[in-house]
Amino acid sequence: MKKSAVQKMLVFSTALFASLSQAEVAKLAIIIDDIGYQPQHDAAIYAMPPQIGVAIIPVAPYAKQRNQQAKAQGRDVLIHLPMQPQAQMKIEAGGLTLGMSANEVAHRVQQAKQTVSFAIGLNNHMGSAATADSTLMQHLMSSLRQQNLAFLDSRTIGNSVAAKIAKSQGVKTLERHIFLDDSDVFGDVQRQFNQAIQYARKHGTAVVIGHPRKNTVAVLQQGLKNLPQDIQLVSIGSLWRNEKVPPPQPFILLFSELPAPTNVVPFQRVPLLRGMPE
Ligand SMILES: [Zn+2]
Repeated sequence: MKKSAVQKMLVFSTALFASLSQAEVAKLAIIIDDIGYQPQHDAAIYAMPPQIGVAIIPVAPYAKQRNQQAKAQGRDVLIHLPMQPQAQMKIEAGGLTLGMSANEVAHRVQQAKQTVSFAIGLNNHMGSAATADSTLMQHLMSSLRQQNLAFLDSRTIGNSVAAKIAKSQGVKTLERHIFLDDSDVFGDVQRQFNQAIQYARKHGTAVVIGHPRKNTVAVLQQGLKNLPQDIQLVSIGSLWRNEKVPPPQPFILLFSELPAPTNVVPFQRVPLLRGMPE
C-alpha cells in the first residue's frame, strides 16, 4: 500500500516537472553558411557541438570533404546554393539565375546534391533577386520536393516569396530569424547572439545563421559554453522533423525500502530514516 502511494507521488512529480520544463525550454538552431572555402575557420565550426548545422557551397574547393566530415560527426548538412542577388554581383558557378527553366533548376539542384550528398535541406546564398521571383521559386521547390530536401529561407530580402511557395508545395520549410554577423565586429556579433536568445524565449524557437569568421567563432564558443538553462541547442533537422525537445531529466532520489541505521551504537534502524540514495 505504502509503496504504491510513493510510486504515485513519484510519477506525479515527474510528470509535473516534465511539463513545466517542456514549457520553459526554448530552442536555438544555428546554421553556418559559406562552408567549404576556409579550412581554418571551417575547422573551428566543426569543433563545435554537432547540433550546429553547416551549409556548404557546392563549388567551394573543400565542399566534398566538409560534406563527409559533417556526416561522420552526425552534423546536419545543407546545400548552400548560390542564387542571383539584386546587385550586379557575380555569383558562384552552379547557382540559380532569373529566367531559368524548370529543367535547368532541377539540373542545378541535382548537381549540387551530387557534391553535397548528405544534405537534408537547402538554403540560399545571396539570392535577393532569386527568392523574390515566384516562377524561379516554383521551379526550385518542385525540385526540392522531388529530391526530398527541406528548405531554409536565409531571408536576404524582405519580400522573399520562397518560404510561402515552399510551404504551398509541401516542402518542409523554415525561415531565418537572426543573422549573427551582418557586422563582423565582436560586440555586434555578441549582441546578435543575445538577441537570438531573447527571440527564442519570446517565440519558442530561434533559427540563426552565421558565417565562418573569427569573431563569429569566438562569440559562439563563449556563448554555447554559457548557454542559459532554459535554452536548448537543437539541430535544424529536428525542427524540420518537428521533434519534441526531451525535457531535462528530473532529479529524483531513489531510496532503498529499508530504514537506515543510526550512526551511533547500537546502530538501530529507524523507520523513517533513509540512508544514501541508491
Ligand atoms: Zn552565403
